Amino acid sequence: MENYRYCPICGTGLETRPVDGIDRKACPSEKCGWVLWDNPVPVVAALVEIDGMVLFARNRLWPENIFAPITGFIERNETPEAAAAREIKEELGLETESLDLIGLYAYTEQNQLLAAYHAVCRGEIITGDEIAAVKKIHPDRLRAWDFGTGPAVRDWLSRKNKAGE
Ligand SMILES: [Zn+2]
Repeated sequence: MENYRYCPICGTGLETRPVDGIDRKACPSEKCGWVLWDNPVPVVAALVEIDGMVLFARNRLWPENIFAPITGFIERNETPEAAAAREIKEELGLETESLDLIGLYAYTEQNQLLAAYHAVCRGEIITGDEIAAVKKIHPDRLRAWDFGTGPAVRDWLSRKNKAGE
């Protein structure tokens, strides 16, 4: 749960009480009554494909050898597709030719809802400030993992294999 101690509307110290059957931080002021709903935050994720290879990136803040699909937040008034294309441009310097929704995934550990896309891209890789390294992986060598964007990779691979049968 987000680490709020005071009501962001009126400044009263928050208390924890059941609201709609769940213990939540809430403002005890009767005039205010603000509730920290703590709903999941939507995040776009892109499995980027270029020339038949899938691109994974390592964020500068991550440990060595940790690579993942591109992810990012959606700006106000932006569609998820536009957000995915913008993140791909910012982090990899690539143009997005097509975007297909793989699916929606609850990433409960991060309180996020992932909208995962398969993005076919073109151009020359020019990494943005957040990216330390990029890895190209052939889809046949890609192995899914079971948290975060992993289930989207699993579903994309299984659909791709079915289509290729
Ligand atoms: Zn309040």
